[in-house]
Amino acid sequence: MNHSHDKTGKKHINVACIGNPNCGKTTLFNALTGSKLKVANWPGVTVERMEGETSYEETEITLVDTPGIYSLTCYTIEEKVTRKCAMDDDIDAIINVVDASSLERNLYLTLQLLELGKPMVLALNMMDVVKERGMEIDMHRLPEMLGNIPVVPVSAARRTGLDILLHAVIHHCEEGMEDYILDYPPEIETKITTLEAVMQENYPKHSSARWHAIKLLEDDEEVKQEHPVSVVHVVDRSYEKEMIQCKYSYIEKIMKEILFYKNKKAASTDKIDRLLTHPLWGVPVFLLIMCFVFFLTFTVGDALKGVFETGLDLLSGGAAAALKGMGVAGWLESLMVEGIIAGVGGILTFIPNIFILFLALAMLEDSGYMARVAYVMDSVMGRVGLSGKAFLPMILGFGCTVPAIMATRALETEHDRRKTMLVTPFMSCSARLPVYVLFSDMFFPGYEAFAAFSMYIVGMVIAILAALVMNRLEKGEANGSLLIELPEYKRPNARTIRIYVWNKLKDYLTKAGTTIFIASIVIWFVLNFGMGGMVEEPSDSFGAGLGRLLVPVLAPAGLGMWQIAVALLSGISAKEVVVSSFAVLFGVANANSDAGMTAIVDNIHRINPGFGPLNAYCLMLFCLLYVPCVATVATVRKESGSWKFTLKMIAFQLFLAWAVSTVVFQAGSLFLA
Ligand code: GDP
Ligand code: MG
Repeated sequence: MNHSHDKTGKKHINVACIGNPNCGKTTLFNALTGSKLKVANWPGVTVERMEGETSYEETEITLVDTPGIYSLTCYTIEEKVTRKCAMDDDIDAIINVVDASSLERNLYLTLQLLELGKPMVLALNMMDVVKERGMEIDMHRLPEMLGNIPVVPVSAARRTGLDILLHAVIHHCEEGMEDYILDYPPEIETKITTLEAVMQENYPKHSSARWHAIKLLEDDEEVKQEHPVSVVHVVDRSYEKEMIQCKYSYIEKIMKEILFYKNKKAASTDKIDRLLTHPLWGVPVFLLIMCFVFFLTFTVGDALKGVFETGLDLLSGGAAAALKGMGVAGWLESLMVEGIIAGVGGILTFIPNIFILFLALAMLEDSGYMARVAYVMDSVMGRVGLSGKAFLPMILGFGCTVPAIMATRALETEHDRRKTMLVTPFMSCSARLPVYVLFSDMFFPGYEAFAAFSMYIVGMVIAILAALVMNRLEKGEANGSLLIELPEYKRPNARTIRIYVWNKLKDYLTKAGTTIFIASIVIWFVLNFGMGGMVEEPSDSFGAGLGRLLVPVLAPAGLGMWQIAVALLSGISAKEVVVSSFAVLFGVANANSDAGMTAIVDNIHRINPGFGPLNAYCLMLFCLLYVPCVATVATVRKESGSWKFTLKMIAFQLFLAWAVSTVVFQAGSLFLA
């Protein structure tokens, strides 16, 4: 053990939280460290190890949150990350977090972790659920059957049992590990003993010889590579099957001895799921629910936005007056009021809409519903040649594409990952919401929620079609169906929701204060300066010149205005900037107000009297499909490790955006003519 002492004499240890996906590791981590990491009611959300600090009595504890895994075999990135963390010599102890309400499934990993021989404490999480369901776990027999490791019942969500857990960790860390008791059949045990001896001989410093011996018998590639020993005479074949079987029969034995039902309640989950995961109705029900979410985003969001409107009017009016009073130069006043306040402030007024969207997404996720959507989509995904696991990142994409791209790490092959990365940006992220809100409100009065909602549908359909086409081209076949076990439905946890919504709003605000702030200034400059210095009319500016170059390309899509070209170009910095651009272009202080919208529509009509709903719809389509924001592009580059792939993706998206909006505009013009 290598826990260290710092200068103040306090002891310091490193502890890793390890467990299956969705068992509450991150919730526990957050509860213990006061961090606000994202918690979600489906697997694959934590993709990297995260660290946080806490302390108990005299001991400082660094806690490490890890991606959820089902076993210590090394197939997915998550398994690799977590296994590496578990075996790291820096880690002094492991908290194995298990979902006590489905102990049987969780124990497989527990048995594997025990073989590592590290000090370990079992955190029986979700005890509230266990009680609710009338289950009872024998707290004396369970630790006995697991080699006498401490077993502590907790509820991470209700924050019960946490002190006892920390106490057990520290205490147990000092006492060390007792012998683990799962015996394999004699034939295998003999081999393990032999291998253990070989390991100790070759690597005397190595700490978990038994674990390595076991992994050698399972023919584990990584272990063979890291600690090569010549043992062909012992490891004549892989004994993995027998060893897995052995663990499962032991788990069965444990469950028989420790689990009792006081009064079995019929799980209401089954009944609800018959509808929600129905092969035929599952998808329509999902679409209905999402449609309802949009309806809320628009109605409630609109009701709340009055507050922001007044605030922003006061601010820009006040700022203009104050700047004039101070006698600042005209250009500076224009930069402040028409550039920054219009650009950044305009984006802030969409907070109510964004807030409602995130609140709804948080509830849908935390209740366990989103995992069902992924489950329903599994067969669809398979049919279009995407891995079933691809839909989880895609759902995350409704929030923000950046974490969604990162979540593709859950996919097994690089090939699957890239395909998923390619289609994930088609899921409308929250940054596109302001664009949809603005243009639907302006051009589809009375139907704004439907116009916006249709963008989400179009995005999903295009994602699926794109996957299908790619699949046809490469004649590949689908692999990796979604082995997700559905979490129980539960009442969303207020704290989890609060963290989720706050994190997202914070990101939004940060973006407004950084990317959008800078973009607004840049836009103001390119629209107010031309070859001969500052210009009177924006149409003489650099921006106009640049935009005009693109007009011929955009004209077939009904978007042939240099103003739109400028807005689309600047929207690459962040999609909301499309809205800021319109505000800056037309000198509108608050784009998200009735007056602001009327002003924008009037301005557009002054320039192009024919610009109607069809054009607006094509603009929304273009915004949906063209290059995602720079942050996403950077993430794709990092995650794929390839510029070539990233550039191909950009070209593909640009072409698709142009092609789709052109087809829609041309076809639409025929019908409407
Ligand atoms: P992770 O994948 O292991 O990191 O799991 P999360 O921390 O993301 O939690 C998964 C889900 O379980 C979330 O919806 C949590 O709100 C929920 N959860 C976590 N701990 C508890 C608990 O003690 N009781 C209940 N009822 N729910 C919990
Ligand atoms: Mg997690």
